[in-house]
Amino acid sequence: MAAPGPVLCLFDIDGTLTAPRQKITKEMDAFLQKLRQKLKIGVVGGSDFEKVREQLGDDEYSGSSG
Ligand SMILES: [Mg+2]
Repeated sequence: MAAPGPVLCLFDIDGTLTAPRQKITKEMDAFLQKLRQKLKIGVVGGSDFEKVREQLGDDEYSGSSG
């Protein structure tokens, strides 16, 4: 079996990482911080970037390189 290639995990925001339109919990944030040490993560949602930043925080998930 071939070695797996690079992995990108994409997560829905509202109703998945957070309650709809709410801020991320400390527990979920800690999980994502741990996970992103192992692989690339990204978030997907219908809100504009400002709202995403409000929900997830503006340090850890900002921009496209994080
Ligand atoms: Mg959703």
